[in-house]
Amino acid sequence: MEELKIPENVRYILARLKSAGFEAYVAGGAVRDSLSGKTPDDWDVCTSAHPREVAELFSEDRVIPTGIKHGTVTVVTGRRKTEEQGEEERQRENGKKENHEKEAAEKSAVEVTTFRRESGYSDRRHPDRVTFVSEIEEDLARRDFTVNAMAYSPDRGLCDPFGGCKDLENNLLRCVGEAGRRFSEDPLRILRALRFRAVCGFRLEKETEGAVRGLYENLKEVSWERITAELEKLMCGKYAAAVLDEYRDVFACLIPELSAMFGFEQYSPYHNRDVWHHTLAAVEDIPPVFALRMTMLLHDIAKPVVFVLDDNGRGRFVGHPQRGAEMAETILRRMRFPNHLIQRIVLLVRFHDVKLKPRRPEVRRMLALFGEKGFEDLLAVKHADAAGKYEKYLGEAEEKNEALRKCAKDILRDGDCLSVAELAVNGDDLIRAGVPAGPRIGSILKDLLEDVMDDTLKNEKPALLGAVKARMR
Ligand code: ATP
Ligand code: MG
Repeated sequence: MEELKIPENVRYILARLKSAGFEAYVAGGAVRDSLSGKTPDDWDVCTSAHPREVAELFSEDRVIPTGIKHGTVTVVTGRRKTEEQGEEERQRENGKKENHEKEAAEKSAVEVTTFRRESGYSDRRHPDRVTFVSEIEEDLARRDFTVNAMAYSPDRGLCDPFGGCKDLENNLLRCVGEAGRRFSEDPLRILRALRFRAVCGFRLEKETEGAVRGLYENLKEVSWERITAELEKLMCGKYAAAVLDEYRDVFACLIPELSAMFGFEQYSPYHNRDVWHHTLAAVEDIPPVFALRMTMLLHDIAKPVVFVLDDNGRGRFVGHPQRGAEMAETILRRMRFPNHLIQRIVLLVRFHDVKLKPRRPEVRRMLALFGEKGFEDLLAVKHADAAGKYEKYLGEAEEKNEALRKCAKDILRDGDCLSVAELAVNGDDLIRAGVPAGPRIGSILKDLLEDVMDDTLKNEKPALLGAVKARMR
């Protein structure tokens, strides 16, 4: 067996635990990814040392008691405390302390977990009881899939009691132990199975596949917080669209509104796919960013609801973006998505079908609404939407997007006024011009902004005040 390339800080942790007389391995995702030639994002260490022993051993580094009860402490290596304090002060001055600190901590943070066994998941969230054990094999036995149940240490090599390496070679995802029992213990594993298929392309081994199909309804008992964490990885996977299609019933169990899209014919000259397959093509086209992928999954969610067949036998979906935005909001709130994601997704769904010409007034309004980055998102959404239609529409959409992008660039380069705050007058100016203080001030400023964005009024003080006076007459 070849040696795994383990980063310096992780080697240091393993060596230090070993020299103190404990067993220590890297385990889980990092071993799986290394063996399949990928560079792991993070490395987890497991050890025979108990959490307080770990904390003591690394007292000169920084130790965060992440989940002491479950046996996990995070060891932050690389930078000594004193150096870090100096750095902290510098960052406070920069006003960016929080981000920097987080980044730095993530770079060198390693979770060190004591070998453990779990029993019972009555709340479907956490194991009822965690028992520390002394054998690595017992720790590996609690893990979900054989490919995730391998450990490695530089001196002992690979520990693979369940044939994970062979399954990895065969691209197979197989539960450790009896699939039905493992999924019943913790139904989140069902979604994790689909996540690993979506990200790594594993096929599900027969028994595991059968248990997914038989037990997915148990996902309803799992907290949204755990589900969305897996869903994020799944949706950003290379094979997300294929997995959504293959396991559509599982996803409809999480989001019942999806099922109306399955097989829903569009009777439209633009579309060669039903609503669901159009949706999947759009999911596949958009970059793997959770908010964007969710936007495409939900962008046509209201199509079946508003569908009308007109006299010519053509499908009409009047109002589906607006209705879809409302439905998306309901769904995402129910799923406990964070507010910033809800807002971003709902806005994109609402405007996914907006007809935009590359003219400044229209593009300014979109820039005002979405911001520069959000406007790029909107173009990506339009691209993805077109990618799910007849082929010829994609070329058209790309050309249009280019023109829109150029128009936006010109607007930003010229610093065109896009908000009330950028107007050449403010509320005080209006009061001085004789407008009574009160809510009218705000509405007048908004009207002025509309005219300025339409190019019917210049963003210059005399012109704006002139327009205000004309209104008051
Ligand atoms: P990633 O690279 O995406 O982090 P990962 O395999 O490391 O993938 P994690 O969620 O970080 O996934 O979990 C780390 C390890 O813990 C897994 O490889 C697996 O061995 C184990 N594990 C995680 N969640 C569960 C679970 N619900 N049931 C059983 N074992 C689990
Ligand atoms: Mg991990």
